[in-house]
Amino acid sequence: MTRVFSGVKPTGHLTLGNYLGAMRQWAGVDQHRADALFCIVDLHALTVAHDPARVRRLSRQSASLLLAAGLDPELCTVFVQSHVDEHARLSYLLECVATDGEMRRMIQYKEKAVRERERGGSVRLSLLTYPVLMAADILAYGTEEVPVGDDQAQHVELARDLAVRFNQRYGHTFVVPRATLPTVAARVMNLQEPTSKMGKSDDTGPGIVYLLDEPEVVRKKVMRAVTDSGRDVVYDRQERPGLANLLEILAACTGGNPAALSGVYESYGSLKKDTAEAVVEVLRPLQKKHKELCADPGYVEGVLREGAERAREMARPTVDAAYRAIGL
Ligand code: ADP
Repeated sequence: MTRVFSGVKPTGHLTLGNYLGAMRQWAGVDQHRADALFCIVDLHALTVAHDPARVRRLSRQSASLLLAAGLDPELCTVFVQSHVDEHARLSYLLECVATDGEMRRMIQYKEKAVRERERGGSVRLSLLTYPVLMAADILAYGTEEVPVGDDQAQHVELARDLAVRFNQRYGHTFVVPRATLPTVAARVMNLQEPTSKMGKSDDTGPGIVYLLDEPEVVRKKVMRAVTDSGRDVVYDRQERPGLANLLEILAACTGGNPAALSGVYESYGSLKKDTAEAVVEVLRPLQKKHKELCADPGYVEGVLREGAERAREMARPTVDAAYRAIGL
């Protein structure tokens, strides 16, 4: 079976972008067709200023939202990155294969470093090296496919490059992975700033639909989404990004096609109304399941404990082989 690995960062509450761009695919398709691991990548949350208690809380909440979204521990492995030492062990070896220039070219690093400096903080070294840790996350498991949203494609490309370089220098050790992107909603945009992605770590609440938002909150956010000054409903990502985003969200929630849907609507108001209801309906079962899981925290803890054990067993042989190959 194909080995699949992907993850979420516990840096904020999970969003509609995380769900449509990644989690839905993991639950609906990947866990059934592949030998899949889904990881709460908490070490990545330490690359920017954070509150330790919040990271811990968000890790547990992310786990329970992954399960609420339909990940089934009988079918796949769900675990927390810091519970498995192999990630950090392998990351160091890969740092010895990666170059500093390569790291500085990463788009997310450039964007996030600017943001950190604007907030008056210094940039942690781990923010620069984080894509190497992500490569370790992927390569430790002999991963073949990494289902991610469009924003992560460059990091998966780096994991490929490092795998190839390591194999060439030290002998065949790693499977070379590739990213698989969803066909719709690969990049859900912020409802207030439709030229930037809906990211959970940005504190621009009104433009972000969180998975645990109440229906009334979802409706308000969607109805207030920024569109453009035109009046006709057309699907044009370049010229009409706000409108295109709404059409893509509606299409992703209803199984339609954004261009075809644009022909159905005569006003922005009716498009927003239908989009809001479609999002509310997509979130309803997930929120119900999440509530049930919150009543049983021991269950989620158990899933994570078993997941970490399984993950450790899967990663250890590859990481040990990498240590041997590099001369240790
Ligand atoms: P973020 O912190 O940006 O919300 P993560 O790094 O935790 O995201 O990403 C988890 C998964 O969700 C990744 O596969 C990522 O590509 C996907 N994802 C995140 N935001 C979006 C978005 N706005 N649209 C589509 N996919 C997204």
